[in-house]
Amino acid sequence: MITIQNNDGDRRVLVLDSPFALDESPDFPEYLFDVIFVTNPSVGETQTILNSINPVTSTKCCYKPIFVAKALEGKMGNYAEIIDGYADDINSMDVLTAIENIINYNTLIGLSATEDPILSSNQFFIRLTRYLISRKKTILEPRLDVSASTGYVIPIFDLFYRQGAYELSDYFVFMQSMTEKGLFRISKFVNKVYLCPDCLHSHLLYVQTCPKCGQSSIQTEEVIHHFRCANVTPEHTYNFGGQLRCPKCHKVLQHIGMDYDRPAIIYTCNICGNTFIEPQTKTLCTSCHGAFDADQLIPQDFNIYEITSEGKQSIISPNIGFTIYTEFYDNYIEFNRFLSRIRLLAEQKFSGNITGDLLVGKIWVLDAEGLTMSIRPEIIELVCQYFPNNKVSVANNISYVGSVVRNYKNVGDTEEDIINFQVMLSETIRAAGHVLKSGERICYSYMKLQGNQSTIDDFVKEMEFISPMPDDSYCPDQDNPASKPAATSSSLQDEPEIE
Ligand SMILES: [Zn+2]
Ligand SMILES: [Zn+2]
Ligand SMILES: [Zn+2]
Repeated sequence: MITIQNNDGDRRVLVLDSPFALDESPDFPEYLFDVIFVTNPSVGETQTILNSINPVTSTKCCYKPIFVAKALEGKMGNYAEIIDGYADDINSMDVLTAIENIINYNTLIGLSATEDPILSSNQFFIRLTRYLISRKKTILEPRLDVSASTGYVIPIFDLFYRQGAYELSDYFVFMQSMTEKGLFRISKFVNKVYLCPDCLHSHLLYVQTCPKCGQSSIQTEEVIHHFRCANVTPEHTYNFGGQLRCPKCHKVLQHIGMDYDRPAIIYTCNICGNTFIEPQTKTLCTSCHGAFDADQLIPQDFNIYEITSEGKQSIISPNIGFTIYTEFYDNYIEFNRFLSRIRLLAEQKFSGNITGDLLVGKIWVLDAEGLTMSIRPEIIELVCQYFPNNKVSVANNISYVGSVVRNYKNVGDTEEDIINFQVMLSETIRAAGHVLKSGERICYSYMKLQGNQSTIDDFVKEMEFISPMPDDSYCPDQDNPASKPAATSSSLQDEPEIE
C-alpha cells in the first residue's frame, strides 16, 4: 500500500510498506511528497524497497528525508547509511525535528530535489556526495570489510557499488580527481594495500612457488654445515638410522654450535626436484582468478577524506559534472575562457595575423516539447572525444566547439575543411543518440565569422542563441527505426551504426 499523508509539521509523507516502482510511476510525481516513510517490519523487504526508493539514486526521492520502522533499528547493515531515522509514528517529536532540519538545510544550500536518472559512475558520485553534504556527513572514512571488493570501503559507497552503481577504476579516479581539485582533502592516511591489476579487488592469495616450474608443491629443509670437513648439504643427507652422521666424513654429529650448525633453509620442489634458496611469490585473485607476480599488483592508498568547504559549493553547483570531465579532456575549457579565445582569434583574423575561417559549432538537446535542456556530461565527453584538437565548452544549454580552418592554399581547401567540420558535428550528434531519452532531439548548427572588426560583438552575441533551423538534427526514436529490436535484419548502409 502506498499513500501520501500530511504530518503535524504540514509536510507530505509518502508512506509505503512494499516494493514499488516509484520512479517509473506517473501517479506519484516528485512534487507531491517531501518525506518517505517505509513501514515494512522486515529487514530484507525494507532493504529491497530501499534499493530503488532511496535519497541518492532515486530521481523522485533524492535528498528527501527517509524513515523506516522502529523495529529495524540496528539491523539494517550498510543501509543504515541512507536512513534518517527509525520510527513507528510519523508525528513523533524526533521525526518532526529531523525532517525540518534536513528540508531546511537542503533549502539553505540550494539542493533541489529534481535530478535526472543516473547514466554514469561520475553522475552517481556527484549524487552521492550531494546527499552526504545534505546530511552534513563530510568525512569519508574507509572501513575494513571482509566481504567488500577492495577490503577497505566507505560503507555508503559500497552499498551502491554492490548494486552496480559504479566501476572501481572510476571510483579511484574520482577520489583522486576531487582531491587534486581541492574539493576533497586527505585528513588521514589509513593504509597502502595492493590490489589485483585486472579487477582491482583486494582478496588475493599469496602463493610461494618453485622458480623453475612455477608449482607451489614445495617443501623446506634445513642445511647442515659440518665444521670438521666443511660439508654443507640438506639435513636428510645426514640421516642414518635416526642418527645425524656426516655423509662426507662419516663422523657422528655431536652438539649444534660445537661441531656443526644449520646456516640456511633450502626449498625443494616436489614436482620437478629443483632446489632453491628463495621461492617466488605469486598472487591469485579470488575474484577474477587471475595469477600475477607480486610486483604486478597495484599499490593503492586508502585515506580518510573530508569534503572541503570549496568542495561543498562546487559539488552542489549544477556545473560540477563538467568540472570533472575537464580532468580527462584538456580541450574542455570554461566558457569565459572559450569566449575570450574566440574574441582573440576573431581580432587576429581581422588584423590579418591569421588566415582562415573561424568556426563555432553549437550542439544542443531539445526535449519532447522542443525546449532546450541542460547538456549532460556524457555529451560533453563525446564532443571532447570527437574534437580533440578544438576547444570545447558549455553554457546556455549549448555545447560549443571552436575551430579555425587555416593554412589553405586554394579556395577549395577551405570549403572542404568546413565540410569536414560539419561532418564531424553530424557524427557527434549521432554518437550521442544513446544518451538521449525518448522524444529528445539533438541538434547542431555552425557559425562562420564574417564581416570586419565591428561584427565580432554580434558574432559572440549570436553564440548564445540556438537556431530554429539547425544544420542537422537527430532523434533516435524517429530517425533510426532500423535500430529497434523488432526490425528485420538491417540492409547494407553507407555508414556503420554506432553502438
Ligand atoms: Zn663431515
Ligand atoms: Zn619445480
Ligand atoms: Zn582480480
